Amino acid sequence: MQVLKFGGSSVANAENIEKVVTIIQQKSTEEKTIVVVSALGGMTDLLLECGALASMGDEGYKDKLHVAEARHMETVKALVPVIQQSRILSHVKTQCNELEDICNGIFLLKELSAATKDRIVSYGELLSSHIIVARLASLNLDVEWKDARELIRTNNNHTNATVNFSASNELIAAYFKESNHIVTVLPGFIAFDENRKTTTLGRGGSDYTSAIIAAAVDAKMLEIWTDVSGMMTADPRLVPTAKAIPRISYQEAMELSHFGAKVIYPPTIQPVMKKEIPVCIKNTFAPADEGTLIESNRSSNGKNIRGISSVNEIVLLSLEGSGMVGIPGFSKRLFEALAQEKINVILITQGSSEHSICVGIDQQNSSRAKQAIDSTFSHEIETGKVEPLSIETGLSIIALVGDNMKNHTGISGKMFGALGRNGVNVRAIAQGSSERNISTVISRNDVKKAINVLHEEFFETSYKQLHLFVTGVGNVGSKLLAQIYQQQAYLQEHLRMQIKVVGIANSKKMVFIDEGVDLLNWKEQLQQGVQMNIREFIETIHSKNLRNSVFADVTANDEIAHSYDTLLQRSVSIVACNKIACSAPYEYYRKLKDLAKEYNAQFFFETNVGAGLPVIGTLNDLLRSGDQINRIEAVLSGTLNYVFNNYDGSKTFAEVVQDAQDEGYTEPDPRLDLSGTDVMRKIMILAREAGEQLEMEDITNKSFMPPSCMQGSVADFYAEMKKHETHFAGLYQEANNAGNKLKFVASYNNGKASVGLQQIPPQHDLYHLYGKDNVVLFYTNRYVEQPLVVKGAGAGAEVTASGVFADIIRAGR
Ligand code: ADP
Ligand code: ASP
Ligand code: MG
Repeated sequence: MQVLKFGGSSVANAENIEKVVTIIQQKSTEEKTIVVVSALGGMTDLLLECGALASMGDEGYKDKLHVAEARHMETVKALVPVIQQSRILSHVKTQCNELEDICNGIFLLKELSAATKDRIVSYGELLSSHIIVARLASLNLDVEWKDARELIRTNNNHTNATVNFSASNELIAAYFKESNHIVTVLPGFIAFDENRKTTTLGRGGSDYTSAIIAAAVDAKMLEIWTDVSGMMTADPRLVPTAKAIPRISYQEAMELSHFGAKVIYPPTIQPVMKKEIPVCIKNTFAPADEGTLIESNRSSNGKNIRGISSVNEIVLLSLEGSGMVGIPGFSKRLFEALAQEKINVILITQGSSEHSICVGIDQQNSSRAKQAIDSTFSHEIETGKVEPLSIETGLSIIALVGDNMKNHTGISGKMFGALGRNGVNVRAIAQGSSERNISTVISRNDVKKAINVLHEEFFETSYKQLHLFVTGVGNVGSKLLAQIYQQQAYLQEHLRMQIKVVGIANSKKMVFIDEGVDLLNWKEQLQQGVQMNIREFIETIHSKNLRNSVFADVTANDEIAHSYDTLLQRSVSIVACNKIACSAPYEYYRKLKDLAKEYNAQFFFETNVGAGLPVIGTLNDLLRSGDQINRIEAVLSGTLNYVFNNYDGSKTFAEVVQDAQDEGYTEPDPRLDLSGTDVMRKIMILAREAGEQLEMEDITNKSFMPPSCMQGSVADFYAEMKKHETHFAGLYQEANNAGNKLKFVASYNNGKASVGLQQIPPQHDLYHLYGKDNVVLFYTNRYVEQPLVVKGAGAGAEVTASGVFADIIRAGR
């Protein structure tokens, strides 16, 4: 004997039922087969809505009843040959009329009891099972319909009745002992109480029906046919990369289903486990897929973690108070209070101080729980020994399940490490003494992210996914996107990393695409975006709440720079090309560094100094390895270097500055470069990274620019520079006559920083510096006489983009 159960989606319409029928035909050639079916997918909800509307006096229930009737009629017509239709059609019609009578009664009385709810929903399974029998009979199969209510006895706890196993087992065994039909079809979900009133076994209860019957007849196998290819490593709706688990123990399956793996209704395992009947979860829509075999054999396949699941809508009840310490009986009274209210406890934790007990329950029971517990402890609350029960809402539980966890160390470390890196706050933790399950309570908003983080950590050997947001897709930003596109395959192969760009913006538009921006087509996609709004952009990063999120700021925008703190607080890593944050008052720079540490996020800004050159990285490597920075000499402005390398009197100074701007080396306002302000920022950032608490005011700037050039607009600036050509020519001539070159040098020396134009003689390290190159000389405890030199192109979109890119990869790792 074998039992097959088909769920709601498997029997949702005629097309699906044909698939079910094919499976039954095939399977029943092997041996006697019992088939348990759910209602047509969505029907139970629809019937409950009818009841609810009718009880509220809303006539809308009639339309819904018509929809229900029409669905069943259509299904019959599509499945059963016309000449055999009349019997089943009139049966469906009769049942629908009964259902309508019941609803009319509810409408009149404005009353819907749990018992009546059970009556209403029972029609779902009754109808679907009759229709399937009609179809099978039309194919000349030896098939019998049997009312499961006649075989399963429960108490009268309507909507979630408890099975009387001794009575049910007897009835089931007796019936099938006598029955000789090849196929017997029964409605799932429904039963009778002692007075033959219809009860139900709880939502999803058809699974349970099939297990009860399988156990009572000692079936060889129970197959649960559904719409996924087995029990999966996580809910496939939340984790697209979830995989089917080939084999799993009863205990693991039970644990996963109790913690939200909806694919089997939790009580289902118990009866079959007792009899060691193997359960197979199969996919009606892909019958050739292996599916999942649930059995007592615990072959671990080398896997410690079998699956991850979650339960939403949890509240945490905390009972706290100094009066609880050392006094026995507090927890007993707490749990008794809950038990009396029939409130199921999902998770328990107690601090070793015994100062508090924390219990996780279903949100819908929270006010009943509060009342019950506060009244149980009313005396202690009055005398101040215990605080009134506190309730925290909006929570979920995620659970890591695996029989083999107990033999391995480091699993919880890995779990909480991964959650911590992604800013998922853990509210409570419980680990059963069986060590088959580690559960944590987290915010409901973090569930999707947390499950994906854990799935990546424990199941995905393929790659880690980075979610990247980029503001500023102009010159540098567009190069960055091109580089990411070009390196995709390399990153995946060598670093096991996939960068998904999920949001981009320029100053006008922004767009978010969850599947990832098309890196060949992003301009069009951005065009179709909405108007850029910085606050909204940052808010969207928060609300998407994606794992491994990195925000790359390729703008020079002040407001964006001042949003980094909120991002870091959500564990979003920051890669800044924008210098504003690091050159803001020291307090903000320090705050960002501290937040990054506190929230396990990365904050990288290599391109703030020397574009793509490894200046800040080198400085940090020196410090980390125990060296100390004593002095820095540097030419840090690609613009100024370009200007002084090209200015020899043949063109005016203003024209050379214009060339630098045209080449894209300058800041959008070239005066930031010419005034030395940009260089001041850079040397300040280096000094800060070297451990100095420096502000812009602390830096001496010996500017060579006539003050009048620095007023008005950029156009005024160019016009004014022309007027001062003799000043610039004089500077050049003086240096040239002495055989020297002009360099705008930044220095840091034991706590002091300065910038200014200097004449550099030929033997000096800074003399041979061409084009837009930058150079940084580090004098340290280890590099005393000869400095450590970092030199190369210090400006340009391509190299700057590559520096940002390298930071993104570093942040992702
Ligand atoms: P049926 O109608 O066949 O009883 P259900 O809808 O009750 O099917 O259960 C199947 C659904 O359970 C799947 O479509 C899937 O979305 C969901 N599910 C949640 N967690 C898991 C998991 N760990 N493995 C498989 N499916 C899961
Ligand atoms: N039809 C019932 C429900 O939707 C039982 C089941 O499908 O298992 O809950
Ligand atoms: Mg189900």
